Amino acid sequence: MRTRGIVLVLAALGAAGLWMVSDTGPSRPKHKARRVVDLRSVSPTSKRKKTRDLADVNAIVLHQTGGLLSADHQGWKKVTAHLGGAPDGTVFLIHPLEAYLFASDDLNRDSIAIEVSGNFEGEPGVYWKPGGGPHDLPAAQAEGVKWAMAYIDRELRKRAGHGVQRVWSHRQGEKGKALDPGWQVWSRVAMPMMKELGVVYDPNFARGGYPHPPSWDGREAAVLDGSLPTGEEMLALYVPHSDQDEHPG
Ligand SMILES: [Zn+2]
Repeated sequence: MRTRGIVLVLAALGAAGLWMVSDTGPSRPKHKARRVVDLRSVSPTSKRKKTRDLADVNAIVLHQTGGLLSADHQGWKKVTAHLGGAPDGTVFLIHPLEAYLFASDDLNRDSIAIEVSGNFEGEPGVYWKPGGGPHDLPAAQAEGVKWAMAYIDRELRKRAGHGVQRVWSHRQGEKGKALDPGWQVWSRVAMPMMKELGVVYDPNFARGGYPHPPSWDGREAAVLDGSLPTGEEMLALYVPHSDQDEHPG
């Protein structure tokens, strides 16, 4: 009897071990936010236009603020996005994932928005001069935003039964945001995270905005279809994010 009991216990432990391995994935990298600050109880609920069923939400949209919001800036709670990433790697939870926000224009309905603080180049040499900089994306901030993307994937899997299936830029949803979030955030955060999360990348996708230029993902220009704006055209149209701005659509 005693031997059979031990065998049963070992079998149960083995099953639990297998389950843990298959649940987390053996090679999935772990990302770290410097700290996570929850602002969801103090952010303005007037920005939450309705509550979505997370079954209909499967994309992440990446943004840049177009100016610098440090981690201790009091404006983070007014940012129109679900999450935000500060230069030091701090991540802010600003609105619930199910909240419909006017954050990403034509991409609003099925996506979760992350604002990355900084005035980053759209393409190399092209940036919005009044925003200062241009800033280089700090490694700690890139890591914080990767943590935020992995967090969204985990939450969707837990609560909606599916993970992140698309990663988009604000540029793809609005022509006035062609610099948003720019080549650094795209190449250093979006590209590796799409690979990590198993997301299929479509650089030619656009819903109201522009496809991606080769500088964002290292493709040859010949791969692109459709016409792309020049640097001057991008700057002429560009309107940066401010604390209050909202993007219906
Ligand atoms: Zn944006």
